[in-house]
Amino acid sequence: MTSPMKIEFIDLKAQREHIGERMDKAILDAVNEGRYIHGPQVREFETKLADFCGAKHAIGCANGTDALGLCLMTLGLRPGDAVICPSFTFAATAEVVAWLGATPVFAEIDEATFNIDPKGLDAALETAAREGLKVKALITVDLFGQPADYEPIEAFCKANDLVLIADSAQGFGGQYRGRVAGSIGDLATTSFFPAKPLGCYGDGGAVLTPHDEYRDVIRSLHVHGKGTDKYDNARIGVNSRLDTLQAAILLEKIAVFGDEIAKRQIVAERYADGLAGVVRTPKVLDDCVSTWAQYVVRVPEDKRDAMIEALKAKSVPTAVYYPKPLHQQTAYKRFPVSGNGLPISERTSRQVIALPMHPYLEESVQDYIIDAVRVVATDLGIAD
Ligand SMILES: *Cc1c(COP(=O)(O)O)cnc(C)c1O
Repeated sequence: MTSPMKIEFIDLKAQREHIGERMDKAILDAVNEGRYIHGPQVREFETKLADFCGAKHAIGCANGTDALGLCLMTLGLRPGDAVICPSFTFAATAEVVAWLGATPVFAEIDEATFNIDPKGLDAALETAAREGLKVKALITVDLFGQPADYEPIEAFCKANDLVLIADSAQGFGGQYRGRVAGSIGDLATTSFFPAKPLGCYGDGGAVLTPHDEYRDVIRSLHVHGKGTDKYDNARIGVNSRLDTLQAAILLEKIAVFGDEIAKRQIVAERYADGLAGVVRTPKVLDDCVSTWAQYVVRVPEDKRDAMIEALKAKSVPTAVYYPKPLHQQTAYKRFPVSGNGLPISERTSRQVIALPMHPYLEESVQDYIIDAVRVVATDLGIAD
C-alpha cells in the first residue's frame, strides 16, 4: 500500500470540515456580542454539559487541572491529608493534591484496562496510615477514555468515608454500566484541551457534581471566592473561568459529540479486528463504552522503540502515553507508593504505543495504518 498524504495523530481540521460553518458563526456572534467574560453561552453550555451525562450541576472553569484543584479546595484539603490516585496518568491528577500541601498516594493499575485497580486500594490505605496520613479522597482517572471500574471503587469509598473524584478529562461521555462519565463520583472533572474527545480551541474545563453544597462552593471559589456579589469575598479563591468564546465553540462541539463517540467506536473496532494477534489491543469492561481518547496497544518492551521508529518511517505518527509513571518522575518521587511498588504501572509505561485516533479517521487511512503495524510487527518478530 502506498503512503497516504499525511496521517494526523488527532485530526482537528477534519472536524472543521463537518461543523466549520456553524462554528465560525458561533465564534463571530460571540465576538460581536462582546460579553467575553461569563456571557450567556457559558451557562447555556454548562446546562448542555450536565444534560449530556445526566449530572445535576456543571461549572465551567479555565482548564481540567483547575477543575481538579477546585474540587480539592472545596474539600479543604490540608497538609497531613492524603489522596489516593493512580501513578499511570497525566501529571495534573496528582499535581493538584500537591498544590494544597497534601500527599498523593500512588496506587497500582489493572493491567487489562490501564485504570486504577480496585484490588490495590486497601494497600494504598495501609501505606497512607503507615505514613501517618489521613486519606480524604480518591481520584480515579478514566484513562484513554474508558471509565474506571466504579462499582467496587464506590463501595471502597463508602466503606472508608472517602470523597470520590472522577478525573474524566479523557473519559467524559463514556459509559459505565448504564451511567455516563461526568455523572459518576461525588465530583467529576473534565478538560476541553483541544486534543481531548470534547475539546475547545484553547483551554477550558468543568466540574460536575450531584451535590448542591459542592456546586455552591465551586461557583464561589472559581471567581475569587465571591460571596453574594463580586466584591464580597467569602473565601480565598482563584480566577478560573471558562471563556465565553470557548463556551460558544463547545456548544457547537457538544451538538455532534454523541455522534463522534459512535464514530470513534467504529474506528476502535476496526483496529481491534485488524490488529488482533499482532499487538495487544485494549480491553473495555463489559457494559462499558470508551470515548477512545487514545487507542493504546502494547508491544514487548524491548521492541517498543523500534516499532515507533519503523512506523514513523512509514509516515504513521504514534505517541507514548505515558513514558514514565508519576512515582518515577523527579517532582513526584518523594510521595508514597502503595504496597510493594507499582510494577504494572512501570511495565505498562515501557510497552504502550498510541495509534492515530479521531472520529474522522477514514477507512482507507486506517487500513494503511493497520497494514503498517502488521508489517512492522512481523519484521520485528512480535506475535502476541
Ligand atoms: C488533560 C488531562 C488533565 C488536565 O487537563 P488540562 O485542561 O490540560 O488542564 C487532567 N487529567 C487528565 C487525565 C488529563 O488527560
